[in-house]
Amino acid sequence: MFFAGTGASSPSARRGLSATLIRAGGDRLLVDCGEGTQRQLVRSVGLPEIDTVLLTHLHADHWFGLPGMLKTFDLRDRDKPLEIFGPIGTRAMLDRVSAVHGKLGYRVEVEELDVDESLRFDGYRVQTFATRHRGPSIGFVFVEDDRPGRFDADQAIALGIQPGPEFGQLQRGEAVRGVEPSQVMGETRRGRRIVITGDTRPGDATVVAASGADLLIHEGTFASVDRDRAAETAHSTGVQAAQVAADAGVKLLVITHVAARVHGGELEREAREVFGNTVVARDFDEVELPLPDRGDPVHHTWSDRRKALAQDENAAEQAEPAVGPEPAPAGT
Ligand SMILES: [Zn+2]
Ligand SMILES: [Zn+2]
Repeated sequence: MFFAGTGASSPSARRGLSATLIRAGGDRLLVDCGEGTQRQLVRSVGLPEIDTVLLTHLHADHWFGLPGMLKTFDLRDRDKPLEIFGPIGTRAMLDRVSAVHGKLGYRVEVEELDVDESLRFDGYRVQTFATRHRGPSIGFVFVEDDRPGRFDADQAIALGIQPGPEFGQLQRGEAVRGVEPSQVMGETRRGRRIVITGDTRPGDATVVAASGADLLIHEGTFASVDRDRAAETAHSTGVQAAQVAADAGVKLLVITHVAARVHGGELEREAREVFGNTVVARDFDEVELPLPDRGDPVHHTWSDRRKALAQDENAAEQAEPAVGPEPAPAGT
């Protein structure tokens, strides 16, 4: 998960508008695409050939970046189709936008989603849930497929199974000469689960969707002092986001969509009093999500990542053999 833009409503010097890039296997998905998203990506991790755009709702700070990005893909001679999913109204919005970017050399496939819909991807699915904002709005749950439990080869051999095709049969769930798969396979290992709310006031549907999730990305537009303003505008405070995370029992909460005048550090401090494992995202932060049996989500700031990259480059330079002066041509 890469946070390309973490601001609300209008961009500030520190924060671009909403966009989160998800790298899942070979897929590149973008959740929301606020104004300036392609520039935010170009100056950080690069603008990848996005496969799928998911829009949480149709407020301008969540999609104004689309026309420019669609045009850039066209200028790159893209031929791969692009899928765009969003709430009711997405198709009409994109029809209007097409007057801005003109004809594209690749196909844009648009599908409008209601709540409780499910999209199938390779190795995972994306489910929608109801959020509580102004106008049609949806949140997304990324649910990775479960993996079969670990195969205990020693136990299988002890039960008289021959290494080879018989191992495969048991791993596929078939009994072999009276030995049941459950005797040699560990428990099913659950896949990763990530929830992204988009703009919303706190809601029970989010708690249900995020129950036991590895990562909850929840908006936290305002500090607690502005709780009334959050309610009026159908947004959340950081503390409310933290309460949702605590109720859902997630591993890590990342707060995004932070208003320009809100101090991120202060928002984080308030939220952590309610849910300790909270991070307020800054632009270009990244969260790495190992498989659940291999560790907890890890948050990297952009400055940490740049330091690590610089160290890698230094190490690579030092590893290269030193290049001496060119030998003088013979006979001169
Ligand atoms: Zn917004
Ligand atoms: Zn909004």
